[in-house]
Amino acid sequence: MIDITTTTWKKSIVDSLFLPHEAEAIKGIPLSSRLLVDKLIWTETQNSIFSVRSAYKLAMKIVVSGSRGGSSDSSSLRRFWKWIWSLPIPHKVRHFGWRACREVLPTKTNLMRRKVVPDDTCKICKEAAESTGHVLWSCSNAKEA
Ligand SMILES: [Zn+2]
Repeated sequence: MIDITTTTWKKSIVDSLFLPHEAEAIKGIPLSSRLLVDKLIWTETQNSIFSVRSAYKLAMKIVVSGSRGGSSDSSSLRRFWKWIWSLPIPHKVRHFGWRACREVLPTKTNLMRRKVVPDDTCKICKEAAESTGHVLWSCSNAKEA
């Protein structure tokens, strides 16, 4: 969708792929003339590395900001989990999601924190720590599934 020779949007392609208001929003995004390689950055952690815990905190911020005045964090948390547990999905999937949010899945990062394993490097890609976020989203193996 980007013409790398002129560093401009290929407007006809953007227009053909998106709804008009989406296309206008995309074409309004300024492009860098330096053609830097894209990279993913997670802004919710200091090291820019995704963690389920930080995603959970972000979700809670959204829930709290979406609530209308006078709501305490604990009641927002209760409503969030009540909503999660009411989703029409198999119980084992809800339970897995709950375990992922609570950082209690037996990932190597969690096992290393409990001194069960000495190293938390992902056995599959060997590129990062095997955290919950890595296993579920950022590992090259997870992206293929
Ligand atoms: Zn990996």
